[in-house]
Amino acid sequence: MTQEISISNREDILYYLKTKSKKKIQNLYSLANTLIEKFKDNKVHFRGLIEISNVCEKNCLYCGLRRDLKIDRYTMTKEEILNAAKFCSDKGYGSLCIQSGEITTQKRLEFLVDVISTIKKEYNLQMTLSFGEMPKKSLQKLFDAGGRRYLLRIETSNEKLYEKLHPKDGKHEFKTRVNTLKDLKSIGYQVGTGIMIGLPYQTYDDLANDLLFFKKLDIDMLGMGPYVPHPKSPIYIVKPRLKDAYAISIKMVALARLFLKDVNIAATTALQVFDKKGREKALSAGANILMPIVTPINLRKNYLIYPDKPCIEDTKEECFNCLNARLRSINKEMGKNEFGDSIHFSKRTNNL
Ligand code: SAH
Ligand code: SF4
Repeated sequence: MTQEISISNREDILYYLKTKSKKKIQNLYSLANTLIEKFKDNKVHFRGLIEISNVCEKNCLYCGLRRDLKIDRYTMTKEEILNAAKFCSDKGYGSLCIQSGEITTQKRLEFLVDVISTIKKEYNLQMTLSFGEMPKKSLQKLFDAGGRRYLLRIETSNEKLYEKLHPKDGKHEFKTRVNTLKDLKSIGYQVGTGIMIGLPYQTYDDLANDLLFFKKLDIDMLGMGPYVPHPKSPIYIVKPRLKDAYAISIKMVALARLFLKDVNIAATTALQVFDKKGREKALSAGANILMPIVTPINLRKNYLIYPDKPCIEDTKEECFNCLNARLRSINKEMGKNEFGDSIHFSKRTNNL
């Protein structure tokens, strides 16, 4: 028997973040699952993730793709990207997500406009973009080309903590990140953001404030995952304060579902670094989105944002079969050929 609870303020969130009661935690997961099934039945929507380039102008102190690291850099060709898009279309994924390091050149912008408009013409796939910060004009061009959702994690809503995790070189500004999220919204994108959980210096208070930040910004999609320390990154030496980033991440998914209600929430790949069933756990606790990697297999080893990334040796086909079996094991199914747009977005834009 589940017991009704309400997650409506900071105190409620903090209480559940801190509780160790297995019964209360199980109750929380079960209520979060009931709520998402009320909105979307037992459907899980897929976004095939194409990691089109690991070249990055930025130097975030936690990331395996940061500019200063000597790794093999690649950018996929238009043909390679279209092949990956075709796979998503053939398999009925309904959506794809194109992601890369941050590059702000005119040449890159033109390339992206070309790729996005071609995918839009050739396939009936809803497109999520995730290329980091860009000037509003560029984001508008990508929208005009056919991009409809944009994923830009705030990483943490604590400005002081954000500053500790990024170089002080004028190119990693918290305010620019927040303003970019506002630009995306005013252009008309479905706006997705999120955080890393268990970051150095991060506290439960920070996490509770993150959920309040999402609510205030009225976001449509959420992607939160555990921080995975990268041994070659500068921040590696700072040990996080919060223990068990994985367990806290699942709790955050459930709390976000009950607090924000109708947004799309991803069961992120990083969850699986800690537990083979990490993504299923999140999907049973309020998440409703999966992002199977469809990047060509020979390139995946070069997109190691964090170490021990799962699925880098599975072919696209194996990945498809594996995920469907995983969904069956938790009584869920793929929303075949459906866009699976954020209900929150529809309500917000139709003033429902
Ligand atoms: N360049 C774009 C998109 C690629 S990075 C951007 O930064 O927005 C995508 C996400 O990877 C980042 O938003 C961050 O939350 C996550 N990430 C980076 N390093 C990580 C790490 N060490 N552990 C877990 N997630 C990490
Ligand atoms: Fe680049 Fe994104 Fe990594 Fe920062 S998090 S270094 S912007 S790929």
